[in-house]
Amino acid sequence: MLAPTITTSRALAFKFSLPSLVLSTKTRMDSPPRNLLMSSVSRSPPREVLVEDTGDGFVSLQEWQRWGSVSPLPATVKQIVEDMKALERKTDAQMSFGGIGGKLQGDFKVQEDKKHRATYEALGNSEKKLQFFSARQIACRLLGSRGYLCQKCWLAMEDCMCSKLKPCTLWHGVRFWLYMHPKDFLRQNNTGKLLWQVFGVQSATLCLFGIAEDEKIMWDAFKRAGQSKVWCLYPNKNAVTVSVPDTFSPESSANLEYTPVMTDGDKTLNFVLLDGTWSNSAAMFNRLKEQAKSVWGDEDIPCISLNMGASAMHKLRPQPSWDRTCTASAAIGLLSELHLLPEFSAYGLDEQAEAVEDALVVLLEALTTRRLRMGRSISRKARHNRDIC
Ligand SMILES: [Zn+2]
Repeated sequence: MLAPTITTSRALAFKFSLPSLVLSTKTRMDSPPRNLLMSSVSRSPPREVLVEDTGDGFVSLQEWQRWGSVSPLPATVKQIVEDMKALERKTDAQMSFGGIGGKLQGDFKVQEDKKHRATYEALGNSEKKLQFFSARQIACRLLGSRGYLCQKCWLAMEDCMCSKLKPCTLWHGVRFWLYMHPKDFLRQNNTGKLLWQVFGVQSATLCLFGIAEDEKIMWDAFKRAGQSKVWCLYPNKNAVTVSVPDTFSPESSANLEYTPVMTDGDKTLNFVLLDGTWSNSAAMFNRLKEQAKSVWGDEDIPCISLNMGASAMHKLRPQPSWDRTCTASAAIGLLSELHLLPEFSAYGLDEQAEAVEDALVVLLEALTTRRLRMGRSISRKARHNRDIC
């Protein structure tokens, strides 16, 4: 029998897991601490969750970083939260989130739509527009997920899987960067988040697409490492791709001019994982290339092509429920392939790959349990192959 198929597409996941959130919106200094009232449309009993925030409804640095970020609270996100709060006061329309995607709802949505569209149109260039788009997505997700999602595992609190996760130390010669599209931020079935949950934020670092503070941290690290120590895991046939053995092992390289990548010293190998839908990933990869050009004068970021055949994946338990392009699987594949090379065999990368795989299993179980509780069938055909990614 096949393992249960996860069919929590983004729409389904949010439809059944993001019940309408009603934010109490008093923001005056003399108002009591806010409660976030949840009237659930699911079968879960209604709950009332005390929201831990700065007391005025704004987002604190601590709250921001508890979601997994390492950056300071982005100025653009802060500004949008402030603008939304100001609009709420001005229009006396309550900010509320709910429905599919946990989006803004009601009268406030109408007002906010008008305002943010006008702001967007008035922006002078595409870079500013991208930054505004990203920041607004993130601000809405932050406010809409407060008190509802666990800040560590991004699952609804009743589904929190944190106690089942086993942390693991990633070999210091490897660092992952989760370059994440804002629409994937705080998504329950995202798998990129598993990497920092298992390895910690210094070994697997979140970088949000279009957020200047995040991108600066990532690119500062790339500048220190140098162009030859940065790769992207993105199976795009239009990109320059290199295989793991050809890049990291002199013995199996067919290239006579090959220079092996040294793994000694303090030069860490940086791997960018594009964490977004297929169509969003193309835009993210293009942005990486543009930034590479501005930093190094040429836009070459080699893409690692993983050998997803049986030989490289032989250690992995068969799990048809997620496909091998999911973000965490790409990391598992890379670590497994590196481990097969003599130069890397001493670093325990196989165990580190297994730790991510175990985390994937835990996530799969948590999502399956949720679906069952919501009364959703788990035996549907795998029509949402990319549901977990
Ligand atoms: Zn949790």
